[in-house]
Amino acid sequence: MFSLHMTSFFFSDFLILPGFIDFTADEVDLTSALTRKITLKTPLISSPMDTVTESDMAIAMALMGGIGIIHHNCTPEFQANEVRKVKKFEQGFITDPVVMSPNHTVGDVFEAKNRHGFSGIPVTETGKMGSKLVGIVTSRDIDFLTEKDYITYLSEVMTKRDELVVAPAGVTLKEANEILQRSKKGKLPIVNDSDELVAIIARTDLKKNRDYPLASKDCRKQLLCGAAIGTREDDKYRLDLLMQAGVDVVVLDSSQGNSVYQINMIHYIKQKYPDLQVVGGNVVTAAQAKNLIDAGVDALRVGMGCGSICITQEVMACGRPQGTAVYKVAEYARRFGVPVIADGGIQTVGHVVKALALGASTVMMGSLLAATTEAPGEYFFSDGVRLKKYRGMGSLDAMEKNTSSQKRYFSEGDKVKVAQGVSGSIQDKGSIHKFAPYLIAGIQHGCQDIGAKSLSILRSMMYSGELKLEKRTMSAQVEGGVHGLHSYEKRLY
Ligand code: IMP
Repeated sequence: MFSLHMTSFFFSDFLILPGFIDFTADEVDLTSALTRKITLKTPLISSPMDTVTESDMAIAMALMGGIGIIHHNCTPEFQANEVRKVKKFEQGFITDPVVMSPNHTVGDVFEAKNRHGFSGIPVTETGKMGSKLVGIVTSRDIDFLTEKDYITYLSEVMTKRDELVVAPAGVTLKEANEILQRSKKGKLPIVNDSDELVAIIARTDLKKNRDYPLASKDCRKQLLCGAAIGTREDDKYRLDLLMQAGVDVVVLDSSQGNSVYQINMIHYIKQKYPDLQVVGGNVVTAAQAKNLIDAGVDALRVGMGCGSICITQEVMACGRPQGTAVYKVAEYARRFGVPVIADGGIQTVGHVVKALALGASTVMMGSLLAATTEAPGEYFFSDGVRLKKYRGMGSLDAMEKNTSSQKRYFSEGDKVKVAQGVSGSIQDKGSIHKFAPYLIAGIQHGCQDIGAKSLSILRSMMYSGELKLEKRTMSAQVEGGVHGLHSYEKRLY
C-alpha cells in the first residue's frame, strides 16, 4: 500500500569522522553565503520569533558577523522601526539621525529614547537635517529631570551651539574621529559653511568599529538586517515600509513554503524590488525547493517540525528530520547557486557543525539564542531560576497576540485554531556578546577536527565523499554523552 522508502536522520543520529589537522582552530574561515548576493563572516542567524529577534538581537548578531531577522508578530510600523534602529546603529557618518527643534520638549526626548534607544539628539532651528544647528541634548542634559519636567522646552536644557565642538562638512571619517576623541564629547555634529547640520558621528560607534571586525555591514557601513513577512495582500504594505527602513533581506515566513501564495509573492517582490534578497521556505524536499528556486528565491530556509517549540510533526503528520532535510535540499539547491539555511533543531555547537557539513551555508536558531540579554522580554524568576519566555510562533499564545503568526500557520480566519507550537521558558544565557564568540570558536574547533580549514572546504569534502558520516545507534548516543557520574556541572564557556 505504501512504501517507507528511506530512513531519515536527525543531527543526533550520526557523527562525523575526524580528519587531518594542519592549521589552528582560529584560522578556520567561517565566511558563508546567506543568499545569492549577501555573504556573512559568521554563519549564524537569529530566528524571526517574537521572543528572539527585535533590534537588540539583530544588532548583536550583525556585530558578531551573523544577522538577525526581525519577527512580524507586530504592526508593520513597529517592525520597520526595529529595522531602522539596526540600520542606524553603527556607521561612520550618521546622515539621518533623530533631530529636534528648540520647541520640542524633554518629554519628546524621552519618547525618542524609548523608541530609538539613544538620547544624544542634535537640535536645529526647524527640527530637521539641513537646518541651522542650535544645540544638542545629551543624556547629561536630562538625566536628573523627572516627569514634571516633561513639558520643558529643549531651548532651556540643551547644550547651546557656542559650547559645541563641530567638524566641517567634507571632513574625512579619520579626521572626524580624531576631533571626536580630542573633544571627549559623545557626539560630533558635522556642519556645512552655513552652519547647517549635515551629519553626526557618535563616540560609541567609534568603539564599536574597533571591537567588531566580523560585523556584517552593507556598502554604507550600516549593519545588515533582515525581516520576516507573510504572503498576504497586506504584507505588500509591510514590505514597502521595510524597504523604506533599509531592510537587506526579507524572509517569507511560512511553515510550508511550497504554495501558490509564496510563489506569487516572490514574483511580486522580484518585479517591484529586483535588488532585494528574498529567502523562501520553509521547505524540506527537493520538489518543494524546485518551485521556489524557479520562482526566483535567493536562499532557502529548511526545516519543518524540528524546532524545539514545535509540534507540527505531531499535529500535521508532515515534516522531515532535519539532518535529511538539510542534506536533500542543499544537495539540490547548490546546482542553482542557492544557499540553504538550516532552520530549527539546533541544540548545541555540534549540531551547527553537522548542519553545515550536510550542506547548509548558515544556521537559524531560536531556542539557542532565546533568554539571552538581547532577546525581547523581561527576565523573571521561577523556583529561584532566572528565566525568559520562549514560545513558538504557532503557539496559541503567539497567535492570539497578532494575526501574523496565524498566517505562518495558515489558520487566520479559521474558526478553530490549530496550534503548531508551545510556549515555555528558558534559563538566562547572558549576553550574545559572550555566547556568539563561544559558538564561533566551537564551530572552528569542529571544523579543525574534521580537517576543514573553511566552510566551503567542509562542504566540498562532503560532496567529494572525503567527509565520512557514521550512523550512531541509540546506545552509542547514550554512551557518547556524560555518564557514570553521581553529579556534575555542565559549563560550556
Ligand atoms: P529552535 O531553534 O529549535 O528553537 O527552532 C526555531 C525554529 O522553529 C524557527 O526558526 C521556526 O522555523 C520554527 N518555529 C517557530 N515557531 C514555531 C511553532 O510554533 N511551531 C513550529 N515551528 C516553529
